Amino acid sequence: MSTKIIIVGSRGRMGQALIHCAPQHDGLELVGAVDQGDDLAAAVGAAAVAIDFSAHTVTGPLAALCAARNKGLVIGTTGHSEAELAEIRKFSAQIPIVLASNYSMGVNTLFWLTRKAAEILGPDFDLEVVEMHHRLKKDAPSGTAKSLAEILADVRGLQYREAARHGREGIVGERTRGEIGVHSIRGGDVVGDHTVIFANNGERVELTHKASSRETFANGALRAAQWVAGRAPGLYDMQDVLGLK
Ligand code: NAD
Repeated sequence: MSTKIIIVGSRGRMGQALIHCAPQHDGLELVGAVDQGDDLAAAVGAAAVAIDFSAHTVTGPLAALCAARNKGLVIGTTGHSEAELAEIRKFSAQIPIVLASNYSMGVNTLFWLTRKAAEILGPDFDLEVVEMHHRLKKDAPSGTAKSLAEILADVRGLQYREAARHGREGIVGERTRGEIGVHSIRGGDVVGDHTVIFANNGERVELTHKASSRETFANGALRAAQWVAGRAPGLYDMQDVLGLK
């Protein structure tokens, strides 16, 4: 039996990519596509899993609807505040939720490589993350850049909030050992580029991923929707879906 899904944010760039890719996933049946002004509650009622690629303010109310009706939820939306993330965590005690800043295979491999490189290269290397996205992107840094910086902070025993240095301007002084630079570039139609830089005296390692199509995120999210259906309540990520843990 196929898993019934709905797409929230269906008129957006990712929503359109999801609608395009969904028919290629044999085990899924698209039963609803909602955007601003549509009846979200009715759409949730018809599905087993909701896929959210909309806006950060939408995810909490959507999670509440899914929890009330015992549906699974795949969250692709980024830019949530701490309070919004706390709400998502709260509902994950009732339903299975996949939350991932990036659903592509390549970026999830980059997450793994970033942790490994940080562990191998050790504390002498300066850490910087650079991302570039299209001119219409609303949040900065990207959720993926934040995830990369969180991995680096975790390996170094730092807190992301304290270690992240978002851009530099003026007489900022010498770089401190405990900072992780995070830099956002915006322009054109770039789907999503991320580079992690490990810099030491005399050498530098750069790990780069470049997405050239939104279908890579859409197919990953659709795979997550199939995986999450019928799971035990909990907060999962794409590493769980891909079996990388
Ligand atoms: P977009 O602006 O093109 O689309 C967002 C859509 O959500 C719009 O059509 C908008 O009308 C709709 N929306 C807004 N409020 C709504 C509401 N109350 N109910 C229903 N729909 C509503 O943006 P996009 O490029 O498609 O990206 C959407 C989100 O997904 C962003 O947060 C982006 O950062 C994120 N994203 C995540 C990944 C990933 O792999 N996790 C990949 C790409 C984009």
